[in-house]
Amino acid sequence: VGDQGGEKQQTSGEDGVQNTIAVASGKGGVGKSTVAVNLAMSLSEQGYEVALVDTDIYGPSIPKMMGMEGEKPRVNDERKMVPLEKHGVKTLSMGFMVDPDQAVVWRGPMVTKAVRQFLGDVDWGDIEYMILDLPPGTGDVQLTIVQTIPLTGAVIVSTPQDLALADARKGKAMFDNVNVPVVGMVENMAYFSPPDQPDRKYYLFGRAGAQELAQELDVPFLGEVPIQQEIRKSSDQGTPIVRSAPDSASTQAFAEIADQL
Ligand code: ADP
Repeated sequence: VGDQGGEKQQTSGEDGVQNTIAVASGKGGVGKSTVAVNLAMSLSEQGYEVALVDTDIYGPSIPKMMGMEGEKPRVNDERKMVPLEKHGVKTLSMGFMVDPDQAVVWRGPMVTKAVRQFLGDVDWGDIEYMILDLPPGTGDVQLTIVQTIPLTGAVIVSTPQDLALADARKGKAMFDNVNVPVVGMVENMAYFSPPDQPDRKYYLFGRAGAQELAQELDVPFLGEVPIQQEIRKSSDQGTPIVRSAPDSASTQAFAEIADQL
């Protein structure tokens, strides 16, 4: 692990990382972190070595979703940070490092510095997929992060709602600006099926909006994830649904999306 070439100035710790996929959303609350976490779980389930990185400095939710609240990574003899391993995935979160109440008032350059430092010297070992949870939105902070970290591609998460879609469009423009290919779009909270009527679908936020936007923007549509109480509950309890309910339809949906990464 110790023989990094040093040609990538920013993230020497990423020498053993094959694919880095950012999960982005134009808007908060659409399920970006939920998708990031469950895609990481699915890839791990498929036998890949996976890392999950939470750069959402303003509202890091990965520690809670992974059941790792209050944990702190240690530093090894080479003074590199050792990611914490949970549910088979190596995990780091800005939430392990900073008090979110403090970070809320940080300006862009401080965030950039923190993210750089945070990802600068990490003992990842060999990683086939690194899933990066970005802060929601498409402002300077997000832009700097996607410029700082060498990305293989980006996944944009949206609900079918017009408002979220308008912001998702900005997400695509941001990645175009920095020449990061958009791997595709995920429609979260696509519909609701009552547990006692699994064949009925209620389109609470409108129908197929993200699917249509993907078409319009000429990016692949990776799939849809329903609103399911179990998804929210499993996240709140610290074991993402892909691990807590391996046979559920949502787990299947995440697996099919992960297949396309
Ligand atoms: P974001 O990262 O976009 O801010 P989160 O992933 O934190 O969004 O999700 C916001 C809330 O919605 C969380 O409480 C999460 O558990 C819940 N949630 C996300 N996706 C779903 C879903 N498909 N079904 C049910 N609840 C969901």
